[in-house]
Amino acid sequence: MSVIFEKVALIGLGLIASSMAHAMKRGEVAKEIAGYARTPETRATARKIGLCDVYDTAGECVQDADLVVLCVPIGAMASVMSEIRPHLKTGAVLSDVGSTKRAVIDAIGPHVPDGVHFVPGHPIAGTEYSGPESGFATLFDNKWFLLTPEPGTDPAVVQKLAEFWQALGSNVEEMEPDHHDLVLAVTSHAPHLIAYTMVGVADDLSRVTDSEVVKYSAAGFRDFTRIAASDPTMWRDVFLTNKDATLEILGRFTEELFALQRAIRTGDGDHLHDYFTRTRAIRRGIIEAGQDTAAPDFGRGGSGR
Ligand code: NAP
Repeated sequence: MSVIFEKVALIGLGLIASSMAHAMKRGEVAKEIAGYARTPETRATARKIGLCDVYDTAGECVQDADLVVLCVPIGAMASVMSEIRPHLKTGAVLSDVGSTKRAVIDAIGPHVPDGVHFVPGHPIAGTEYSGPESGFATLFDNKWFLLTPEPGTDPAVVQKLAEFWQALGSNVEEMEPDHHDLVLAVTSHAPHLIAYTMVGVADDLSRVTDSEVVKYSAAGFRDFTRIAASDPTMWRDVFLTNKDATLEILGRFTEELFALQRAIRTGDGDHLHDYFTRTRAIRRGIIEAGQDTAAPDFGRGGSGR
């Protein structure tokens, strides 16, 4: 592979940034990988494992960088932006990996200096693990990366960033930011909230002990616990910044849940069977699209986010 950006700066050194660093090395996509994390502990860990050149300030990290990627929780994007703003080089590409897009654009867009190209994006790939040691080079392989540029963005810059993510293993598509937030509310955000709720319900149910929940945990519940183990800060920020779309999907979810509840109460087996037949076809479609395998992994594998 050939170098796409000479110097890439990663702000935040968690799951996504560390996976990017590994995938960049695998593909020889950058000559220099710089990184910064907020706490000395995370910086020390990143240094210990030789993840990248670790800097003690975000400003030094982005100095001379051709691509800067913000890999911090969405709620931290604005403060990180004000820290790095004076240090961005003219002509640099600025991007992010935040799980919601409109809020990131609103937080960062107005502060982008002249001559810096801002192209937001989101890798639809993740696990429930966090931190610099959780990353791996194959995280993005055959997973989608959605670019959500604002109208008027230089198409050559968008194309270059698309090539970068393709070199990291992703399939890249462009999407309008509000549409992105609605799609992700359906495919990721609402399902996470439902998983958090189901695990919370099991925890609260006094007639079933916690040890029984752990001991007899069946595949469905195990998958919920994996999702519900996801980083609390990241997911708090997702719901705070994708409020409307998530509430719209949860409203529809509640209506369907009531209909299924009624079908169970009235013994309407046809309704239940038809519904489950329809949902089974969606699972087949995901496997046929190569976004998951049919092999049972009982929640141990990585997943799209
Ligand atoms: P992570 O493993 O928890 O790492 C977050 C990093 O951000 C850490 O290095 C942390 O530094 C730093 N950070 C946290 N708060 C900060 C602040 N206020 N100022 C500066 N740095 C701060 O997170 P991640 O899973 O890589 O997620 C990063 C971004 O990717 C999020 O925006 C998330 O929405 C998005 N994303 C995540 C997934 C996923 O499945 N995890 C998937 C797609 C997109 P310290 O360790 O020093 O605190």
